[in-house]
Amino acid sequence: MDEIVLKWVTVLSGILTVIVCVSVFFFPDIHERAVLAAEQQKEVGGGNLIATTANPKAVVEQSKDLNAQLKIALPEGISKADVEIENDYVTQTIYIKFAGGVDDYFEQYAIKGSSDHIASMAYYKDKEEGVIALQLDQVYELKNRFKKGSLYLDFIDPHDIYDKVIVVDAGHGSHAAGAVKLGISEKSLNLAIVQQLKKLFDEDKRRIRVYYTRTSDTNPTLDQRVQLANKANADLFISVHNNSDATGNFTKVKGTQVMYSESDDAKLSSKKLAEICLKNVVDTTGSENRGLLKGDSIYIIRTSEVPVALIEVGFMTNYKELDLLNSTSYQKKAAEGIYNAINEAFQEGY
Ligand SMILES: [Zn+2]
Repeated sequence: MDEIVLKWVTVLSGILTVIVCVSVFFFPDIHERAVLAAEQQKEVGGGNLIATTANPKAVVEQSKDLNAQLKIALPEGISKADVEIENDYVTQTIYIKFAGGVDDYFEQYAIKGSSDHIASMAYYKDKEEGVIALQLDQVYELKNRFKKGSLYLDFIDPHDIYDKVIVVDAGHGSHAAGAVKLGISEKSLNLAIVQQLKKLFDEDKRRIRVYYTRTSDTNPTLDQRVQLANKANADLFISVHNNSDATGNFTKVKGTQVMYSESDDAKLSSKKLAEICLKNVVDTTGSENRGLLKGDSIYIIRTSEVPVALIEVGFMTNYKELDLLNSTSYQKKAAEGIYNAINEAFQEGY
């Protein structure tokens, strides 16, 4: 009898090991997420990190008569000048950092208000500071005020304060360079175009809020990129990439191509948005029009719940086009094309 049990345990643990090995091999994302979580912790607290997570429903003392969503009691002696609030839109996490820190914030201090919209809470402490981290259920803008040793926080739906909300994604980043041709990496070209686009929106006085998945050499996960669009309920989600010939070799193939979600059958569809993007980028850059491409095989296109267009501005495997893509003047033209496309899309009713 014991032998049979032992045999089964051996067989089952064998199967389990195989499953774990195979999934780690096929889903590097698991590894990437673990690394990301570790990096985030490192950033939050340097030395002796104390981390506590708490159930928002249990910690937030429900109180309806507050003139704010949350009233967060600050430790003694902490004033407005000692508090730093960071709203990380990409992960929908709000970090409230205060000097000094206390050992166990949730045990010692009170948070009053409503736990609605808070998915999870954590408290980190190291030698220098304490950090309360609130993970929210969507992208919010913050309103804060300080009064008598407390921080009052309100979460505001961006659509309540802006006429339009856009998410712009510069493809790849950090150790994920995308294609690299003649020492030029796709991640840098994508980012350079998005930075030119950001300049245009920074000068735009209309009530348009643009959230960027990245504005420097970072690499949010694909899920974080698309969830930023979904959780901001963006009017448009634009992802900027550059193309390579399938062989990876330098060829004569050149031009602009835009990918869309073929499963999006809304009147203001992903395909219609892609058409608008293609036309406008070809107009400003003078590049060859290579048409539209079905994109549901691409994760961020398939899982986008908002109108999405993935623009492949040009081919890095064409000597002449790579040269153009690497120039500031062409990057500006591409950005202008995307900017014009966004404006046209708004006129169409997106
Ligand atoms: Zn790419």
